[in-house]
Order: sequence, then C-alpha cells, then structure tokens
Amino acid sequence: MATLSEQQIQDIIERVNLRIGTVANGQGAKLRAEKQLEAAEQVELGDGIYGAIDEAVAAARRAFLHYQRQGLEGRKAIIASVRASMLENAERLAEMAHAETGLGRVTDKILKNRLVTTRAPGPEDLELEAVTGDQGMMVTEFAPYGVVGAITPTTNPTSTIINNTISIVSAGNAVVFNVHPSAKAVSAENIRLLNRAIQAGGGPPDLVTAIPNPTIDSAKEVMNHPDVALLLVTGGPAVVREAMRTDKVVIAAGPGNPPAVVDQTADVDKAGRDIVAGASLDNNIICVDEKTTIAVDTIADRLVRSMAQNGAYVLKEHELKRLERVIFQEMGPPRKPGVINPAFIGKNAGVILAEIGIQVGDDVRLVVAEVPQEHNLVWTEQMMPVLPVVRVKDVERAIELAVKSEHGFRHTASIHSTNVQTITNMALAMNCSIFVANGPNYAGLGEGGEGFSSFSIASPTGHGLTRPRSFSRERRITVVGALRIV
Ligand code: NAD
Repeated sequence: MATLSEQQIQDIIERVNLRIGTVANGQGAKLRAEKQLEAAEQVELGDGIYGAIDEAVAAARRAFLHYQRQGLEGRKAIIASVRASMLENAERLAEMAHAETGLGRVTDKILKNRLVTTRAPGPEDLELEAVTGDQGMMVTEFAPYGVVGAITPTTNPTSTIINNTISIVSAGNAVVFNVHPSAKAVSAENIRLLNRAIQAGGGPPDLVTAIPNPTIDSAKEVMNHPDVALLLVTGGPAVVREAMRTDKVVIAAGPGNPPAVVDQTADVDKAGRDIVAGASLDNNIICVDEKTTIAVDTIADRLVRSMAQNGAYVLKEHELKRLERVIFQEMGPPRKPGVINPAFIGKNAGVILAEIGIQVGDDVRLVVAEVPQEHNLVWTEQMMPVLPVVRVKDVERAIELAVKSEHGFRHTASIHSTNVQTITNMALAMNCSIFVANGPNYAGLGEGGEGFSSFSIASPTGHGLTRPRSFSRERRITVVGALRIV
C-alpha cells in the first residue's frame, strides 16, 4: 500500500472528529461497544492471536526475520497503514475499552487513541548520526533487537498498544503483547486490527502477537522467554519489579503521583482551568494526570474558585469525611499512600459523589477537596477524579512537599508560575521524566504542548517518553583516515 499523504491523514482525523460527541456518549454507542466486545471474545484465534505464549513468540520471531528484509521504505508504508487504521478505529476501540474496563470517559479515550496515533514518532526517529574529522568518519545507526515482550495496563489499554506498536515496529522489531486481563477482549481486537493494517501496508503477518487469555503467569512467561530480546513493561510497581528480576534488557514505565504547584505569580484563573482539564482527563487514570495540587496561601482561595468555575465540585469538610470512607479501603498513617477502593477507580465524578448523596451532572469532571498536607490523598496515586488541594506558606515549601509526595518516582510534575527562576528551581528539584510549566500535564504528552507523544513513560529505567530509538541497538561504524569528503 502506498504511504498516505499528510492530507489523507488530516481528512481521516476530521472524519473521526466529526463523529466524536455525536455517538460517543450515547446509549447506541454503549450497546454497539458491548456487542463488539462479545464478538471479540468469541473469535479467539487468528490475526496475531495465538493459543499459547510459545506459539505467539515463535510467530513473532518468524515475522521479524521476514520484516528484517523489508527495508526502511517498507517500514514507512506499514506505519502509515497502521496510523490510518488506528484513526479509523479510534472511536470504536475507545467505546470497547470503556465498556470492558469500566474506566474513564469514551471521549477522552478517543482523544488518547488519536493522540498516540498521530504523534508517536515513526521510522523517521531513527535518523543516523554521522561525524567526520581529520581521522575519518563515524556513523551511528539504529538496529532492531528482534522480538520485544510488552506488558500493558488496563488504564490505557488501546492507546498503549497502539503507541508501543508504532514505536517498536518503527524500530524494525516484532512484538508479543501480554495485555492486562481486565482489558483482554478490546486488546485482542486492537492487535487483530494492527495485524491487518500491517499486512495491508505490505508487512508480514504476526509482527504483533498476543494470547486471548493473558494472566500474571503468562506475563512472566513472556518476560523469561529465551526468544524475547527486550522487555517493555507499563504498569504499577509490581510489574516493574518483576521485569527487573529477569536477565533481559528492560524498559520500565512505572507509577507516578504528579504534583501541580501554583505560586503567587501564576495566572490563577488559567491554572485552575488547566488543572481541572488535566486532572480529569479520562477520570484521572492516566499516569501523568495531576494527582495533587499545592497552592501558595495567598492565591489558594482564588485557585479553588477558578476550579469550581471550570467544572469541579468543591467538597465541604464534612462531605470529604464521608467521601474518604467511600474511596479508601484503608487510609493508613499520615503522609503515606492509602489503599484505594478499586470500585471507584476511573469512575465519573458524578458517580463518586452520588455515593455520598450529592447529585451532579456529567459536566462536573472533577471533585476537589482542600486537605492538610498529611492527608493520604496527597500521598496516594488515587486514579480517580478526586483531587486534593494543599495550602502552603510559600513556593519553597510547595516544591519541598511536591518532591516528597512524588515518592522519588521521578515521573511527572508541573508548576503554574510566571517566575522563570521558580520554574527552573522546581524542574531541578523534581528531576522527573516530564515537567510541565503553565499547562495541563497532558501538554507534556504533546496534547496542546510541543513534542511527540508516548503512553509508556519509562522513569524507573531513565528512558523517559519511549520512542523508536528506545527499542533500537545503537551500532557504530568507524572508517579510519577516509570518507571525509571536504
Ligand atoms: P498493573 O500494574 O495492575 O498492571 C499492568 C500490567 O502488569 C498488566 O498487564 C498486569 O497483568 C501486569 N502485572 C501486574 N503485576 C504483575 C506481576 N507481578 N508480574 C507480571 N505482570 C504483572 O497496572 P494498571 O492498573 O493496569 O495500570 C495503572 C498503573 O500503571 C499506575 O500505577 C500507573 O501510574 C501505571 N502506568 C504508568 C505508565 C507510564 O507510562 N509510566 C503508563 C500507564 C500506567
């Protein structure tokens, strides 16, 4: 298949755009998604889905050997075909993911699918590096590893699979997925679609494989399989620890607890709007979403007012007490993470508020509560649209609390400030993979901010936002005394 032009890709984006909002939240869409899920569960094998990990790895290995001979132009055509198919299916996959996992919002999932499909870098990321000088020439090129094993989360099932596939396949590899069991049907459907798109783009079958019924044990089988050369794990602390125990090269995208600081120099109205937009995206289940706000005392009231004006419900103290009993299974000691009640992870703000007798419309995207800094919500990766706001005396104390409550994950943090020195100080202190100034945290994923997108942000292993280069072996050729041509 020929490479799609920019115009053709734009046309597809516009067609998808037109459909968003008209069907995504409707009852019809829900029923359609449920029917598609049923179908996805019934059609078990084929198009990259195999009965056992061994078979899935062997098929991916065969595909890799074939793919190696295809050249860069072949890769580009395959990735263009993947992008076109994922744009066409962004809405359907979002509806299915929502129906199966019960997490997040369909419209936000469409946005995530489209974001990674359009902004994850392709083979162009592998531009070689050349040096020439008096002693000759050196070129660095990016070679594939072979078969990559990828473990994916339930929070962003399809956006992670799409993103990982674009990155891993662009670098010339094949991939075996072990997806989250709670998202297995939509993930299998996503992998089937990817396989069809790869073949439509001229690629071999089985460049992307998986099994229909993944478990923790099958994840371990992938992790320890002799024909898997590299691991990419995206999830919480347990899966990161497990991958680090293997003898493989590991790229680990682990948990976060992103703090957003607002100082007295900020555009406070905009900060309130940005934080509500960021913290509520897909009901706060994205790892980069703001999980805590720390505001300098003098602007804290104005900030909370701005949040209320921009789609947040602000809890009164007695309402917070009631909500704590709903959203926590255990709160635990002060300044420590509590145990969240899984029933409310990724649910709409209105569903959570209804549990304490407060009825609001679906336009309320976030629940906000002012809390002292010891409160467990500040220290917990809550993964639900309930955002604590802590008031501190000055920005130095705000940054100090931000560093501590992030637990050294070095994942994501943000600030709203017009003082460049303060912005710099916080960026230095946080030492994170993503630092955002003056925007919602998702700007750091390339949504409303500059730069490419990734949904596997590998803080524990230092790779940051993963891209094709992350899945490449750097290889150098040095020619001594020749090939400098000037
Ligand atoms: P999770 O850790 O429960 O599951 C992630 C994947 O790991 C799943 O496929 C699961 O089956 C597997 N897994 C879990 N424990 C395992 C073990 N002991 N051995 C082998 N495999 C195991 O996470 P989730 O609920 O799906 O996702 C939410 C978590 O992931 C949050 O902590 C979030 O911050 C993190 N996350 C991070 C990024 C990132 O880019 N850094 C992206 C998405 C999610």
